[in-house]
Amino acid sequence: DRIVAGSSMSEEREVEAALRPKHLAEFVGQHRVRNQLSLVLEAAKLRGATADHILLSGPPGLGKTTLSMIVAEEMNAPLRISSGPAIQHSGDLAAILSSLTEGEVLFLDEIHRMSRPAEEMLYMAMEDFRVDIVVGKGAGATSIPLELPHFTIVGATTRAGLLPGPLRDRFGFTGHLDFYSNDELELVLRRSATMLDMHLTSEAFTEIATRSRGTPRIANRLLRRVRDWALVNQLSDVDARAAAAALDMYEVDSRGLDRLDRSVLDALCTKFHGGPVGLSTLAIAVGEEVETVETVAEPYLVREGLLGRTPRGRIAMPAAWEHLGLTPPEDTST
Ligand code: ADP
Repeated sequence: DRIVAGSSMSEEREVEAALRPKHLAEFVGQHRVRNQLSLVLEAAKLRGATADHILLSGPPGLGKTTLSMIVAEEMNAPLRISSGPAIQHSGDLAAILSSLTEGEVLFLDEIHRMSRPAEEMLYMAMEDFRVDIVVGKGAGATSIPLELPHFTIVGATTRAGLLPGPLRDRFGFTGHLDFYSNDELELVLRRSATMLDMHLTSEAFTEIATRSRGTPRIANRLLRRVRDWALVNQLSDVDARAAAAALDMYEVDSRGLDRLDRSVLDALCTKFHGGPVGLSTLAIAVGEEVETVETVAEPYLVREGLLGRTPRGRIAMPAAWEHLGLTPPEDTST
């Protein structure tokens, strides 16, 4: 488990739940999605109807689950949580749908990973609030229509493009969550620090925010590591130096890179003179699987403008040399 991973670790579920904002007004950043969502919910309340189905897309850790809980809270409705991988048979979905109550919010995480038959059942349920339950097998099979109460699906996916068109079309509202700015992450951290009864200087919040990779979940996780460090070192007030020292110990550097990220950049610069080098060669050089380098390290390095992907292979960008404190070789091509 990487400390800078956007997805959640099993042992942090409880503390995460405690830090979740309960209302839209407390939800930091994502102004466009928040305003649009607020309108959707407000209009539904005025109509006295359930809210349209909502699709939230974006990388892990940016607040999709939190928003689904807020939707239920704001609509004063119960919330049921499930996920695509948990629904492999249409029967699994039928069981969930037939037990929903009027107005209930059903959060389906990783909705793009649902099985085909379940997906097809979901189309009908979302549109007509009805499912056909097939009883029996072969020639004797009959389908029994079942009316469902009105409900709101909140679907979450890392990429809306992964969803089949017909499913995507059944959502009345689609919101895309983007990475947070450092200022926004500082707000998340300030709120969490208050709840955890921690005292940090303004610079300490900045220090943690800049290492959090635009992701509230990572920000909160780093904050907890800083809290442990402060506790052991008997520090009641945390300043920037203390925060930096704590996070250095966990090998999260000033740009939020961990050991894997840095070793990829370091190999690229020192072993391959900045590239271009093929992905598999680079992976061997750092002793990792190709897939790990490609899916775990690369996206953030590319996003940060540290690594470039070219048709001839991976290259180190000028910012990479600078970050590692290395001098790029003289450019002999011009
Ligand atoms: P996702 O479902 O997108 O993976 P979550 O909703 O589980 O992300 O959020 C992860 C953690 O980050 C939660 O503990 C939540 O409190 C925090 N968080 C996410 N977005 C925000 C936000 N906009 N404001 C405050 N905290 C947030």
